[in-house]
Amino acid sequence: MRGFEFEQASDIQQAINRHGSSDALIAGGTTLLDLVKLDVMRPEKVVDVTHLPLRQVESLADGRLKVGALVSNADLARHDSVLRDYPIVSEALLAGASTGLRNMATTAGNVMQRTRCPYFRDPDMPCNKREPGSGCSAIEGINRNHAVLGTSDKCIATHPSDMCVGMVAAGATVVVEGPQGVREIPFEEYHLLPGETPEQEHDLMAGELITHVILDPPRGGGQSYLKLRDRSSYEFALASCAAIVNLDGDTITEARVAMGGVATKPWRATPAEEALKGQPATRETFERAAEAVMQDAVAYSHNGYKITLGKQAVARALRDAANRARA
Ligand SMILES: Cc1cc2nc3c(=O)[nH]c(=O)nc-3n(C[C@H](O)[C@H](O)[C@H](O)COP(=O)(O)OP(=O)(O)OC[C@H]3O[C@@H](n4cnc5c(N)ncnc54)[C@H](O)[C@@H]3O)c2cc1C
Ligand code: SF4
Repeated sequence: MRGFEFEQASDIQQAINRHGSSDALIAGGTTLLDLVKLDVMRPEKVVDVTHLPLRQVESLADGRLKVGALVSNADLARHDSVLRDYPIVSEALLAGASTGLRNMATTAGNVMQRTRCPYFRDPDMPCNKREPGSGCSAIEGINRNHAVLGTSDKCIATHPSDMCVGMVAAGATVVVEGPQGVREIPFEEYHLLPGETPEQEHDLMAGELITHVILDPPRGGGQSYLKLRDRSSYEFALASCAAIVNLDGDTITEARVAMGGVATKPWRATPAEEALKGQPATRETFERAAEAVMQDAVAYSHNGYKITLGKQAVARALRDAANRARA
């Protein structure tokens, strides 16, 4: 492991002033320390942000919920407002990692976590995301866990977060602060597609940090997060779906659908939402919506099964959400 300078920031301005493009912030440390030990991330300086006043969850007058960057995944999942108004976010958080990790992991750290692509995590292997221009080992290599949506010929790695999928479905805004002031970025635009530049993973500029994530006013309806994986705990998604269904009688008035495990970023499944609106809440409708979202999927040598699995995740999450809307 390489050495690095270490500083502690006591307020947001200090955190902004003290970190440059070759530095890293540390919150819970559950991603950063692994990647520094693996020699994948090589910060010159690590700035500890854990003393910043960003641990509050606050209801805003306009009905939104403001979540501090340092609120732990465990605290957010168990927060009364989240359990009542955003069960999909709570379920997604509780489907992730383990109890110990969720106690340490923070909201901003979760948004900023890196891919679990094994080639990215092995500095001896070519990887365009870690070393731009070096090539992608996964495209011709072992790609069973890789993405089928949003890929490019430079990178096919999945975004690993569960929480982010719940937040895309619920609707949210990422608030960042930096040398140019405060910016608000719609959650689903925050993570970037790999395109030609897979090393650019998000819309965070040098010197900026995430201060909050603000959840949209509650959408009501029935909500469900379904995560399909190789084992039932302590494992990343092969395919996941966050679904919100609003019903009038048995007709779907509005639906929000997001997916994880199958895409290069937390994936808003707009074609599925369009296929659901105004339709009866039946198994046939849910299966049509699932087909719609996966119609643009591209499989590689080992991950073709994800197209089927992704459809099943969408159809089942929608069925569960509709059942909850009826209850
Ligand atoms: C064994 C294991 C299993 C896991 N399983 C799952 C899973 O099933 N589902 C899932 O979703 N996740 C899973 N995770 C990932 C886990 O959710 C993340 O490691 C965690 O959320 C990161 O939060 P952190 O506070 O520890 O981040 P840190 O490790 O402190 O930081 C992560 C990154 O975020 C940056 N950062 C931190 N705070 C800020 C800020 N305020 N603004 C800008 N950048 C910031 C850091 O510089 C770093 O690059 C797993 C992790 C491990 C180790
Ligand atoms: S899929 Fe992306 S992260 Fe994985 S080896 Fe290819 S470029 Fe690197």
